[in-house]
Amino acid sequence: MSDNRFDIAIVGAGPAGSMAALSASKLNKKVALFERKKDVGIPVRCGEGIGYKGLVSYLEPHKSWLKSMIKKSVMISPDGTRVEIANVEESYILDREKMDADIVTLAVNSGVAFYPSTNITSIEKCNDSSYLLKSPSNSYSASIVIIADGVESKLARDLGWNTCLRLEDIETCAFARVVSPFIDKETCVFYTGSNVAPGGYVWVFPRGVGEANVGLGISGKQSQPGRAKELLYAFINKEFPSSRVYNFHCGGVPATKWIRPLVKDGALLVGDAARQVNALSGAGISYSLFAGQTAGVIAAKAITNGSVSYSQLLQYETVWKKRFGKQQERSFALKEYLAKNSNDQFLNKIALSLSKENPAKINYLRVFVRTFSKNPILMFKAIKLFK
Ligand SMILES: Cc1cc2nc3c(=O)[nH]c(=O)nc-3n(C[C@H](O)[C@H](O)[C@H](O)COP(=O)(O)OP(=O)(O)OC[C@H]3O[C@@H](n4cnc5c(N)ncnc54)[C@H](O)[C@@H]3O)c2cc1C
Repeated sequence: MSDNRFDIAIVGAGPAGSMAALSASKLNKKVALFERKKDVGIPVRCGEGIGYKGLVSYLEPHKSWLKSMIKKSVMISPDGTRVEIANVEESYILDREKMDADIVTLAVNSGVAFYPSTNITSIEKCNDSSYLLKSPSNSYSASIVIIADGVESKLARDLGWNTCLRLEDIETCAFARVVSPFIDKETCVFYTGSNVAPGGYVWVFPRGVGEANVGLGISGKQSQPGRAKELLYAFINKEFPSSRVYNFHCGGVPATKWIRPLVKDGALLVGDAARQVNALSGAGISYSLFAGQTAGVIAAKAITNGSVSYSQLLQYETVWKKRFGKQQERSFALKEYLAKNSNDQFLNKIALSLSKENPAKINYLRVFVRTFSKNPILMFKAIKLFK
């Protein structure tokens, strides 16, 4: 094999791509991982929140990845009603800069050829069924490609996947780090309301003492150029006066259904590129870790078996579907119902009824039941989703 010829080439060194690289290389395959940025994980385009299980199921977390341990969440409704929610499981705010870089280091230590500052501009299928990947200065070939290029995923389109998103299925996000004495290091706070984040919510995720990721997502349908940034700064000025604000960025969350099929002959789609995100909350880290790990193992086994056909790789989709497929379909359906049925008045009503309950007994299931019991038709539809 020449230096630029690999068993498996992976594009994108986010959690999905680097986990795929790590798991495939552990099975002794010749793996390349391409990342267009010089430094993995920078800038961080993420609130960095994750549940304990969603992290430790795939990796042994290093202490330096964990910025805050979250004890509770507070939801603030449009009229300012506060509802405290007990944690159903341990959860954390991560340091993605450190975590993303460390997963790549683990992959490199396990034999992966890592190419930072390498923008893959095209992927073509060759006559011998291998793939040719081109960057502005070089070309590479591989028997299998794993596309992990994130929400924009231009490369999936090169291979015939339709990654177009409806406006209502993209959350337009603006976010920044805020340094302020008003931040509680153990509490995540969520704000809703058409004035603060139309069609979405504001999050305040603490990163240790006196610092937080503060961001908001608004429905693409209700967004205009500059709107998310304007709303974010209005929110920060109101809730965290005289704070220091740095690392402002924008980004998008695909709040849609995962793409089907997830595989083609010799190609697999993972992470945000595959829309493997919880459409209701926007969370995607743990799904990307799982998808990357699964895709890496199945790609490596296909190489061992000497067949990289669709039917050989389809096992990845089967495993994904069994583990998270249904759960994500429900989240998408709930997002759709709520987008059509909820408004400030509805959110205020739910918050008011929950605020009368014992905070120790409120968990996300309770919030769910309250939300749907306010609307019997919605409740009926929601129950059908869980059958
Ligand atoms: C504002 C915001 C807040 C979020 N908050 C949370 C949260 O709190 N919790 C949570 O679980 N999820 C959150 N998410 C979602 C989470 O960040 C993503 O689901 C996750 O990062 C997806 O991982 P990935 O590996 O698929 O993609 P990414 O992390 O986006 O990685 C893709 C990588 O591919 C690289 N790339 C792209 N194109 C090319 C190319 N042509 N050549 C080479 N490299 C390329 C990119 O540079 C990037 O490094 C948030 C997302 C946003 C935008």
